[in-house]
Amino acid sequence: MIGGAELGGTKCVLAVGNSPLEILDRCTVPTSDPVSTFEKIHNFFSSYQLDSLGVGSFGPIILDRKSVDYGMIYSESKKGWKGINICQMFKDKLKFDIAIDTDVNVAGLGEFQYGAGKYSNNLVYLTIGTGIGGGLLVNGKIHHGIFHLEMGHIPMPNPESFDSVCRVHDNCWDGLASGPALELRYGMAPSDMVESHMGWDEEAKLIALGVISIIANHSPEKIIIGGGVMRQKHLYSKIKKHVLNLWNDYTPIINIDDLIVEPKLGNDSGIIGSMILGNSGSASI
Ligand SMILES: [Zn+2]
Repeated sequence: MIGGAELGGTKCVLAVGNSPLEILDRCTVPTSDPVSTFEKIHNFFSSYQLDSLGVGSFGPIILDRKSVDYGMIYSESKKGWKGINICQMFKDKLKFDIAIDTDVNVAGLGEFQYGAGKYSNNLVYLTIGTGIGGGLLVNGKIHHGIFHLEMGHIPMPNPESFDSVCRVHDNCWDGLASGPALELRYGMAPSDMVESHMGWDEEAKLIALGVISIIANHSPEKIIIGGGVMRQKHLYSKIKKHVLNLWNDYTPIINIDDLIVEPKLGNDSGIIGSMILGNSGSASI
């Protein structure tokens, strides 16, 4: 039996199954402090005899297997979690190796195997929600550099001097275009902003600017955009319009509707991807 755990900043999704597409049980627990969060996680998994477990975690997290700090949260991206070793927290109770990667990398893996990225060897999975993050697959494999990618922190032009919600940057993608950034700017949650709200065009432009960086740097076959903010479906066409305008046909974008797409696995890209990672038994498939 395979286990999967998707650790997010607000909640953790946990699942067990015979295969990534055959989930037998699942639950969601809130992400609070590390000790009580892992108590709930172990509670769920303790009822099952697992053979392997894959974890997609928020970061920044050390993924270099040779490092003594492999699996450790590097920054205070969530209060109280800096220095927490996710692998160790699992291993305290589980007696087999776990595979771990970032939440967006495993979501990309899920979409590559079973979703919108099927048959696309080079793809980017983006989430625009409580934060912005992106995972890259090259030749069907998750790409790691010396550290994992942090697409959400691409610098952004900010001529209107919008306030940033990023703890470390005044003008980054996450700081200006994530859900909390919209909430700060317009005084309401993105889910409460009606389609005609004047903020959406600005938001689509900011998202498009980051997408342009991705196209310029990676030229992926697919850019799969998920996350809470993207539940506003009208954003997809607005983003595509801005991408076409900004890129100005410098290289051909043959079919924008084929390039920028919604996740096919909906909210399950991450948990399914975690189980694929667990099934592979390797953090670097
Ligand atoms: Zn930032």
